[in-house]
Amino acid sequence: MPGFKDIIGHERIKEHLQKAIESNHVSHAYILTGEAGMGRKSLANAFAMTLLCEKGKNEPCMQCHACKQALSGNHPDLIYLTHEKPGSIGVDDIREQIHDTIMIRPYSSYYKIYIVDEAEKMTVQAQNALLKTIEEPPSYAVIMLLTTNQESFLPTILSRCVQLKLKPLQDSVIKSYLTGSLGIGESKAEVYAAFARGNLGRAIHLASSEEFQLMYKELIHMLKHIKDMDIVELLFYIKRMKDENLDIYECLDFMQLWYRDVLMYKVTQDINLLVFREEYNTMKEMSAASAYDGIEMILQAIDKARIRLDANVNMELAMELMLLVMKEN
Ligand SMILES: [Zn+2]
Repeated sequence: MPGFKDIIGHERIKEHLQKAIESNHVSHAYILTGEAGMGRKSLANAFAMTLLCEKGKNEPCMQCHACKQALSGNHPDLIYLTHEKPGSIGVDDIREQIHDTIMIRPYSSYYKIYIVDEAEKMTVQAQNALLKTIEEPPSYAVIMLLTTNQESFLPTILSRCVQLKLKPLQDSVIKSYLTGSLGIGESKAEVYAAFARGNLGRAIHLASSEEFQLMYKELIHMLKHIKDMDIVELLFYIKRMKDENLDIYECLDFMQLWYRDVLMYKVTQDINLLVFREEYNTMKEMSAASAYDGIEMILQAIDKARIRLDANVNMELAMELMLLVMKEN
């Protein structure tokens, strides 16, 4: 479990939470919204640990009894809501684990903290049960709802919580973490950062994902030779990627980044602006061989393929239509 200082980015949220602690204005209910991998849990844990820490500073000391208990997952005043049904958090979960226990004073700390992960899974009844608690919480209670989608909450819940939204990190922040802390090479880090769209967890996952490495190799090979391959060969490629369980949407994202690079090079002739800097020679060739509107058509074809997949059009057909545009432009 990290402290605030170990969390990359999210400065505004860290500052908000630390100031709340310093000025003794901790709210009873928070909502942390962000994609999986962005750091909601890290922020919630850092906040909880700081509140429980015996040193009473704006960072957990990691040394005191409370910090050690929290680190080992055994702090009696830090409660993580669990739920039996994977798809939903029901009214009984909220009643048994929050409503019925919150009036019991904290064991060893001033605060008693509840963390509800995947809070978007609360049913309406569960939210109404929670609302009763949030409306009249005991002074020591802090409830943190972590979610990917705060639209799923009742307006009455939203209005009683401090809402904190995690923003995507800049590519440069992610890149420097990958090169600095994980020792990943510059050019690969550039690709992971572009691919992760501001989500550090996703970037770290990609960097260690065998599937992604495989997709990277296969797609680069395919894109380099796309004009020499006939459509049957190309479809065979796609089919094999599907058999290897590669995410077809990720493949589309990858191709989009690739052709954005082709376009970028055509416009700027500047290698430093490319994501696929390692493929500089290919970018040079491809951007010379394609017209502006041809590259635009390819980018549109990739968007269209995504829309077709969303609409449950047969995968091979959607890919074939897109690959034909790629071949011809
Ligand atoms: Zn401590």
